[in-house]
Amino acid sequence: MTVSIIVPCHNESGNLKILHERVSGIMDACGEPWEMVCVNDGSTDDTLLQLIALHQQDPRIHVIDLSRNFGKEAALTAGLDAAQGDAAIPLDADLQDPPELIPALLAQWHDGYDVVNAVRLSREGESWFKRASAHFFYRVINRMSAVDIPADTGDFRLLSRPVLNALQSLPERRRFMKGLFAWVGFRSTNIYYHRAPRHSGKTTWNYWKLWNFAVEGITSFSQVPLQLAAYLGFIVSGLAFIYALWLIISTLVYGNHVKGYPSMMVTLLFLGGVQLMALGVIGEYLGRIYEESKHRPIYLVRHTWKNQQRSNNELN
Ligand code: UDP
Ligand code: MG
Repeated sequence: MTVSIIVPCHNESGNLKILHERVSGIMDACGEPWEMVCVNDGSTDDTLLQLIALHQQDPRIHVIDLSRNFGKEAALTAGLDAAQGDAAIPLDADLQDPPELIPALLAQWHDGYDVVNAVRLSREGESWFKRASAHFFYRVINRMSAVDIPADTGDFRLLSRPVLNALQSLPERRRFMKGLFAWVGFRSTNIYYHRAPRHSGKTTWNYWKLWNFAVEGITSFSQVPLQLAAYLGFIVSGLAFIYALWLIISTLVYGNHVKGYPSMMVTLLFLGGVQLMALGVIGEYLGRIYEESKHRPIYLVRHTWKNQQRSNNELN
C-alpha cells in the first residue's frame, strides 16, 4: 500500500529541505512505500529549482509545475489528481502540519477508516482575532449548510483511494476543499494535535483573502443566504405595510400636516439598502454559475518531473 503526500508550494523555498528531511525520516521509519507530490503553484522564488533538485536526489518526489498561481485549492487538487497511492495526505509546505502525525493517521487508516481528520487543538502564532473569526466561520457555515464541516481541521488529513476517486468525480471548478472532503462522506475519524507556527516565510493569507474564502465556502455549501434575502424582503415589506396602514389611519384621524419627510426618507433608504443587499447575494450565486458554466480546467500544468521521465505541456 503506497502513501502519497501532497504538498502545495507557493514561495516555500525556506521550508522544502527540512520538509523533505522530516517527511522522509518518518515515512522510512513507517516502512510503508511512499511518494511525495509537490505542486509548485506559481512561486516567484527558487521553490521550483529546489523541488527539481530534490527530485533528482530522491526519485520518490514528483514535481508538478503549474502554469501560474492558481491558489491553494487548485494546487491541492492538482496534487490529489496526480497521486498514485492508496491513500493521500495533503501537507502544508510550511511545516505547520507536523509530519510526525502521519504514522497515527496511517494507523487509523489500517483500522478501516477512509478519512482521518487531524484536528487542531491550538493555533500557535495566530492572533486572537484570527482564532475568533475562524471559530465564528465554522459555526456559521455549519448552521447554514447540510454537510458537517469539521471545525479546526485544515487540509491535513488522510484520504483513502475510494475518497480520492470520489473527489475526482466532482465536476465543480471552484473547489472549497474542506467542504468537499466533508461532502463525500465515508467512514471518518479524528486525531488531535497542536498546530505549530510557520517554520519560515510568511502566510499569503490576509483578512480579505480569508473573508473571500469564507464567502466561497458558504456559497458553495449553502443556499441559506438566498433564502435569507427573500425572508428579509418579506419582513421589511410586512413592516412597511403595517406602517402604511398606520399612516392612513393617522391621516384620517388627525389629518395630514405634511410632516412625512423623515419617515419617507428612512423607508426609502432602508428599502433601497435591502434591495441592493439581496441583489448582491443573488449576484454572488449568479457569478458562480457563470464561472462553472465556462468549464475551464481547475489548473494547467506546465511541466511535470516524475521518475526521471519528463512529460511536456500536459493539460489537465
Ligand atoms: N499555497 C499555495 N498557493 C497559494 C497560497 C498558498 O499552494 O496561492 C500553499 C503554501 O505553500 C502552503 C499552504 O498552501 O504549503 C498553506 O499556505 P499558508 O501557510 O500560507 O496558509 P496558512 O497556514 O496561513 O493557512
Ligand atoms: Mg501555513
